[in-house]
Amino acid sequence: MPTQKTNGVFNTTLVRSYRCARCWGRLIEKYANGLYSVQCAKNCGGEGFLTEHYVMERKMVSAAEAAEVEANYPQLAGERMSPDELKKARRSLFGE
Ligand SMILES: [Zn+2]
Repeated sequence: MPTQKTNGVFNTTLVRSYRCARCWGRLIEKYANGLYSVQCAKNCGGEGFLTEHYVMERKMVSAAEAAEVEANYPQLAGERMSPDELKKARRSLFGE
């Protein structure tokens, strides 16, 4: 389970100001085997952290891009990908 072992004060900063690098979800602090660690609240298996500021900025850019696509391709407005289409798109974009 990927975690980041740090001291308590730094953990508070991590939990408040950073997000999971994989799923962009919230972080939580856990205590186990005498150590505090910070990890993704969804336990997605992601490693590393991103600043909350970066995540919010990327979400705003993505929302703006989606709005632009909907404006230019009204026939796609409201269309949602099926789980299979989503999997194919993720594979071609991110190699997942
Ligand atoms: Zn995660």
